[in-house]
Amino acid sequence: MSDKISCGFTTTILHNDRQKEIEHGSVHKPVHTAVMFGYKDARALADVFQGKQSGYRYGRQGNPTVSALEDKITKMEDGIATIAFATGMAAIGAVFQALLRQGDHIVSSRFLFGNTNSLWQTTAAQGLNVSMVDATDVANVEAALTPATRMVFVETVANPRTQIADLKRIGDLCQARGILFVVDNTMTSPYLFRPKSVGAGLVVNSLTKYIAGHGNVLGGALTDTGLFNWTNFPNIAPNFRKQPAPAQGMAQIRAKALRDFGASLSPEAAHQIAIGAETIALRMERACANAAALAAMLEADPRVAKVHYPGLASHPQHTLATGLFRAYGALFSFELQPEIDCFDYLNRLQLAINATHLGDTRTLVIPVAHTIFFEMGAEQRAKMGIADSLIRVSVGIEDTSDLLHDFAQALQA
Ligand SMILES: *Cc1c(COP(=O)(O)O)cnc(C)c1O
Repeated sequence: MSDKISCGFTTTILHNDRQKEIEHGSVHKPVHTAVMFGYKDARALADVFQGKQSGYRYGRQGNPTVSALEDKITKMEDGIATIAFATGMAAIGAVFQALLRQGDHIVSSRFLFGNTNSLWQTTAAQGLNVSMVDATDVANVEAALTPATRMVFVETVANPRTQIADLKRIGDLCQARGILFVVDNTMTSPYLFRPKSVGAGLVVNSLTKYIAGHGNVLGGALTDTGLFNWTNFPNIAPNFRKQPAPAQGMAQIRAKALRDFGASLSPEAAHQIAIGAETIALRMERACANAAALAAMLEADPRVAKVHYPGLASHPQHTLATGLFRAYGALFSFELQPEIDCFDYLNRLQLAINATHLGDTRTLVIPVAHTIFFEMGAEQRAKMGIADSLIRVSVGIEDTSDLLHDFAQALQA
């Protein structure tokens, strides 16, 4: 396959390793386990350290197997560079460690992954000013901006209530004001949506979720889309200003977050994730179709009070989602009528597994208020629209009829 042929999403992932010479014609990038990389010429080692020559030196800052995965994620997001981390949270944490300073202000969606919400509290205690807004309306984001605002952070589809940020208008606003726009694309994955298309400068992906997909490996990534002008970003240290403008942000993140904090992805994990990534398009097609079928069935049942799924016409941002995403995602949440206990319902399900996590090949269910959103307390849950009886469903790739049957049979007490 030549670089000149422009290929589709899956073809590109499958053949990307072979774009560079691989040892012995191996069709997978091998798992390189060495921590250190030796040089015959001591001057070459010095050149690598001084950035005059590219090369690997120590496993914490880079590894050939991890680089091959980073390159795939860059292609999936149509970006210019990617840095992989041990988890998705490490990737989000890296944005703060590397790019933000005491007294900086950020605007964030308040419909957030629970651990990101917790991280915001940590960073606020360390001197960052965080404004949490309803990002389904760009006006709320605009009203929160201050001269100290360095970054706007949103997710694509919020978990568990599936609110959708006003992505295009927020991207336009950030571009007009020269503010870094960071989008956590985990819930949609690059197969359903590319944040670059709405002006994002940095994209977060938890590789643990849809990209790996099999629930047996953790990983995270930050991708630079090439759209943000780093020369205007005040927090780039003089050392990294020596780099060409497009490389400054990632150079600082690789050194100040990955190197200094050390949440590096292992080569074994990178290999596992790369294998999962090969089938993401197929898995997403099936999981999204299953989610649409389940959400429609539950919405039509009088024993169900509410279903939150962007693919339903009743969803407040259904039209927005239709314009943005290839499909409506594989996650939805619902509330039963008050006379049905949510724990009893969950215990009657035979296929769906009571477990946290999302983006797996298996269907997973969880009573949100009592588990992943328990720690934040009732007041914060109310602000995020999370009812006590809310059940989150991460839909897998099981046969559609089996899932429909399982969720229907559990409704009969
Ligand atoms: C799971 C998740 C993360 C964190 O990823 P980990 O790999 O579990 O650390 C971040 N953002 C979103 C939206 C997620 O769903």
